[in-house]
Amino acid sequence: MAATPAAAHDPASYAPYVGGDKCLVVTNTTVGPLYAEQVVAALTALGKTVSVLELPDGEEYKDMQRLNTILDRAMELRLDRKSTLLALGGGVVGDITGFAAAVYVRGVPFVQLPTTLLAVVDSAVGGKTAVNHPLGKNMIGAFYQPRAVLVDATVLATLDDRQLAAGIAEVVKYGLIRDLPLLDWLEANMEAMIARDPAALEHAMLASCANKAAVVAADEREGGVRATLNLGHTFGHAIEAAMGYGTWLHGEAVAAGMVMAVEMSRRLGWLPAHPSDPPGEAGTAAVRRVEALLARAGLPVRPPPSMTLETFMTYMSVDKKVESGVLKLVLLRRVGDAVVTADYDKEVLYDTIMYYQQ
Ligand code: NAD
Ligand code: MG
Repeated sequence: MAATPAAAHDPASYAPYVGGDKCLVVTNTTVGPLYAEQVVAALTALGKTVSVLELPDGEEYKDMQRLNTILDRAMELRLDRKSTLLALGGGVVGDITGFAAAVYVRGVPFVQLPTTLLAVVDSAVGGKTAVNHPLGKNMIGAFYQPRAVLVDATVLATLDDRQLAAGIAEVVKYGLIRDLPLLDWLEANMEAMIARDPAALEHAMLASCANKAAVVAADEREGGVRATLNLGHTFGHAIEAAMGYGTWLHGEAVAAGMVMAVEMSRRLGWLPAHPSDPPGEAGTAAVRRVEALLARAGLPVRPPPSMTLETFMTYMSVDKKVESGVLKLVLLRRVGDAVVTADYDKEVLYDTIMYYQQ
């Protein structure tokens, strides 16, 4: 699995990864009209027989019914083991298409052309595919690696500003957990990112994919280091769920959650002193640094005021990170170095949450 720079209209971008005679492009009713034509033209130029399936747009359609829609089309087209399923869209299209590729004739080649920043930096690389069940998100799925993740920054031109910012939150995450040079680079290039400068976006996307691939290679099934990718996500999931899914975008909730995780790390006394900290307040500059960077992307840097300690604890305790009653959190030992641990003073967790209620 490789994340490679690509151009959606260029046959050469697909040639090494799309074998077989047939290809089914799965997209949705928003992205299809924008980009499917150039993808089809490029694949046709390679001699492929190409079909396009447009699913309805929305997380609520990442379900078994739409999975069947894909499988039905694959059967009707008589796709075989060499045929390629190509996902053209955001994380929703990527997750459901990947799962279809994993199960159709026990697995067919799968290629991703992600069209949201979040999908490039977070969901396309890593091999997790899934659909939702009425009783839980992503509960039915498989680990299945794409042959390639084609990274084309120009398709982000049509993405709305909130979706772009939500993806930036996950890029900042890689900086915070393991990539200080990326964090420095973001501080120098945030305006270019917001302006969708293709070179800037491509740099951020490839750096993020490389970080995710390195973490996943070390720990594909999330036994250890992969969990550091959840920085800000335990607090964030509580915000997303309590506010009603879709009210806060995932990346927005993660942004506020990351600030909370860094603030909690500071309160635990884990962040090393920095010359710009006020006397006796080690870590304050690090918290301000994270807040300032996220705010420049237009992201929230604190949870909504309506989120009480009780609300947080209710939603965090049902989070996947609870193992045998112990709430594991991703915290920072320093900016650029994350740990997953249940070994912290619970009072500090409560104090951190209550601090944001004032
Ligand atoms: P999404 O796929 O719903 O896309 C967001 C919106 O942007 C949609 O309305 C979509 O139609 C639209 N859109 C996509 N590309 C566009 C473009 N270029 N121009 C204009 N509009 C465009 O949401 P997302 O944030 O990309 O992904 C969220 C999904 O990803 C969730 O289902 C989540 O569970 C999943 N996810 C999976 C993983 C993983 O490891 N597999 C990781 C993170 C998230
Ligand atoms: Mg995420």
